[in-house]
This record gives sequence, C-alpha cells and structure tokens, in this order.
Amino acid sequence: MELFSLPHEVLEAIISLLTPLDLISLSSTCKFFRELMLSDKVWVGACYTQFGIKLSATGGFAEKFYKKVLHKYGEFLGLWNRHADCYGGLLQIKYLDEKLCAFDLQLPKDPHISNSLRPQIVFSIELDEQDTLSIACCINPLKKHQCTLHYGKRALTPSSPQSFYLTRQCVNGIENADHQDIFDDMENWLDEQSDYLGENSAYSRRQMIYKYMVLRQTALKTHYSRLVFPQRCNFRVPIQPGLFKGTYSSLGLELIMLTYEEDVNKVKAIKISGDQNIPAGQITFRADLPFCMHLSQREQENLENIESIQPASSDVEWHELPPLQPFVVPQDCVERHNQVPNSCKARFHGFGQIAEEGFREPTFVEGHWIVFNEDLFGFLWISLRALSMYHRVQEQLTN
Ligand SMILES: [Zn+2]
Repeated sequence: MELFSLPHEVLEAIISLLTPLDLISLSSTCKFFRELMLSDKVWVGACYTQFGIKLSATGGFAEKFYKKVLHKYGEFLGLWNRHADCYGGLLQIKYLDEKLCAFDLQLPKDPHISNSLRPQIVFSIELDEQDTLSIACCINPLKKHQCTLHYGKRALTPSSPQSFYLTRQCVNGIENADHQDIFDDMENWLDEQSDYLGENSAYSRRQMIYKYMVLRQTALKTHYSRLVFPQRCNFRVPIQPGLFKGTYSSLGLELIMLTYEEDVNKVKAIKISGDQNIPAGQITFRADLPFCMHLSQREQENLENIESIQPASSDVEWHELPPLQPFVVPQDCVERHNQVPNSCKARFHGFGQIAEEGFREPTFVEGHWIVFNEDLFGFLWISLRALSMYHRVQEQLTN
C-alpha cells in the first residue's frame, strides 16, 4: 500500500506524532502533503499528542499557535524552580486562553497550609492581532512591556550536573515605580504573607521586608531551572511523595518536595522555597523508615519524655505497627496549626536541618517525622520545641 493511498484520518494521526521540525519540513515536500497539512486536524492533533494541549479545530489557530509558539516554546511547559537568593520559589508554565502563561505559585497566607497556592502571572507568550509573537511581562500590569527569554542546558554551579535553565529578563528596566507605589506594594505584600506579622517581633518584620526587596530586585531578571517531580511510588510507603506546604514558625510557610531514596528506606524533604537560615535546594529534614516507633500518649506528654527515647532500628516494619497511633502535641512545644489530629498513621525518628542566618554552621538535629494521612504530616523539632505541619499541594501541576 502506498503512503498516499492511506485514509486521511490515518495520515493525520501519523503526522501528528512527528517532531516539530519534521512537521514543518513535511509541509514543504510536495503538493499532496501541503494540502493535507492545511487541515486543522493535523495541527490540533500535534498540539495534543506532543504538548497535551487541547485546541479547537477552527480558523487555523492551531497551525499558527503550533508553528509560532509551541514549536519554540512548548518545551517550557511544566514546573520550574525559581532562583531568588535563598528564597527560591515555584514557576508553572501552562496553556491558558490561547497563550502560554507563566505563573509564580505563591504560598497561602501563614498559617493556612490547607489553602490553595496563589498563582500570580509573571509573563505570557502569545500571538498578537497581526499574528506576531509577543512575550509580555506581567509583573507590573500598569506599565506594559516585553521581556526576553533565554533557554538552554548548563550547570548552575561548577559542581552541579547540567540541567535545563530558563532566564527571563525585563526589557529596558522599565519597572521603576515611584516611591509611594513601592511602599504601597510592599505593605500589601506584607499583609498577604501572614496572619501573625502584626503581632510578631520587629525582627520578623525586618526579615520579611528584606525578602520583599530581594524578590523585587530578582523579578527584573530571574533564573529558573527545571523541577523534576517525583514519580508515584509503587511500593509500600507511609505517604506518597510530592509537593507540600509547611509551617516554619516565624519564617512563615514554605514549599518542600518529599522524595524517597532508591532503597525506599530513606525519605527526605528538600526546600523548594527557603529562608535566610536554610535556603531553597537544601534538605529540611530526613528520616529512616526502619526507625519507626509507636508512642503512648504518656510518652508524648512533654519534650523531656520524648528526648529520653533513644533512636533505634525497629524489629518490625512500620506497617506492622498498629495503624492508628495516639498523637499528642507535647505541652512545651510551639505549634500554630490548630487542627492537629489526635492520631497518626506512622512515626519515625529523623533529623532536621538548622543553621545560623546565611546558612552558616548547618547541622542536623533530632526530630520525629509523623505521618497523619495521605495529605498531612508533621515534623517535631525536639530541641527547637516546635512542630512543623505539612499539607499536600492539591492542585494538578503536572500532566
Ligand atoms: Zn518586566
């Protein structure tokens, strides 16, 4: 059977699997293919099979969008780590309303860890009325301007492996607002960060103002690197890996990625957003699954009792312990999340990382990793007398 005699539907399905470059070259091979490629279905199919984007098959938009936007920028879709001094952050690029939109996924207001992330648009890649490609900066909606994007593969530090990076830069440093605007913007930003900022010490407030200034500065030119989202585990784990929002006492809420190491016996949580003490990219805590435990209410009454428990590898596996253990916040422990369950699914000995400001003298201190359910866990920092609570990010962020 000849290629040309295949039904059009079959050819369209085959063509939609071609790489962007082949797809564009094919339309210039012969009249037959050029005509076939005029069909919207081919382009709608290619947008869907290659990028998971559903477009309507009318008016030739799919072809234009594929050739001018997805062909070059389709690879940007997905999640990125923001590099902003110690603070890090999360960027999501997705298709929305005939554009590729990049959203900075901001944490909810402290201490509401079960609330949704707050997406704030950073830039969009779209076709204007003349079908010309436009990369619009949305950081300052009052002063519309363009930004540039650079994309490639490189090592972010001399010792790290090569990974995909993306750099976005405002054109012409047009961001300069007058002082009153900056001041108002900062006050609004501070209000959105925490329920506690008003009552906290001047020190916390000063730290937040410093963070605002750093983020404002890095917004003019920001580097991002590809975020690899962990696969769902097929083996038995106390909780599936993924992104969580956690409480870090006066430092506010932060995003972390929970992952298991290859031998499944070790779990670690890496900061996606960080603070002046432990920056983004560093481990916030780790735990060993063989060090599972079952504590009575009495043993959890205060931190002195908990401190006296020597970490030890358990004789039985964590899932062989009773599945519903009592959980009590020790009396002498600081805890802001006011809905801590009174039972947990599993509890493990682990280590949390602490450091002086500027990530000086980092050290691991003892703690307990406590899994409540599939979406909620805690980490008890024994020497800090604090309990951090973590809630799973519920939004569908990956395809
Ligand atoms: Zn800009």
